Amino acid sequence: MVPIATEAIQRWLKRLPYEPIRAALTGVNFVVGGLPGNALATISGSTITVDANAAGFGWYVDTTPQDDIEVQHHVLPTSLYAQSNAAAARMDLLTTIMHELSHRLGIGHFDNNSEELMSESLPVGARRLPNEIFAPHDASHHGHPQRRSFYQVARWR
Ligand SMILES: [Zn+2]
Repeated sequence: MVPIATEAIQRWLKRLPYEPIRAALTGVNFVVGGLPGNALATISGSTITVDANAAGFGWYVDTTPQDDIEVQHHVLPTSLYAQSNAAAARMDLLTTIMHELSHRLGIGHFDNNSEELMSESLPVGARRLPNEIFAPHDASHHGHPQRRSFYQVARWR
């Protein structure tokens, strides 16, 4: 869990490399529990609870979470699928933690029919990445747009 959570935080910080983001994400606690029904994970306050067996599917725990080699079938640049390896029949733990960390940042769900990290559900074998709408603005063209642009996204839903 720790290497996956660390990489999930790093991927968010690549998108939003700001100190308040770092503080919010590195303050999160992770626990493993038994969640009801099809729930993969949930967040309450600063605690993310991850279902013990990924709602019966089993977790795909990427041993090389820094790359996406195992999930190379691109539907979109931010929506990837595994095809024929250990990832294909399981739920991606990295995606799930990135999703819950998004909630920690105040980001709500997007359209569940979209191929987004913030859809309400995750298909088996899928990895989703933060969308480019979360990319930082070019600060050279603005005064101090970064934090404000993030909160505009956060308030969107
Ligand atoms: Zn969610």
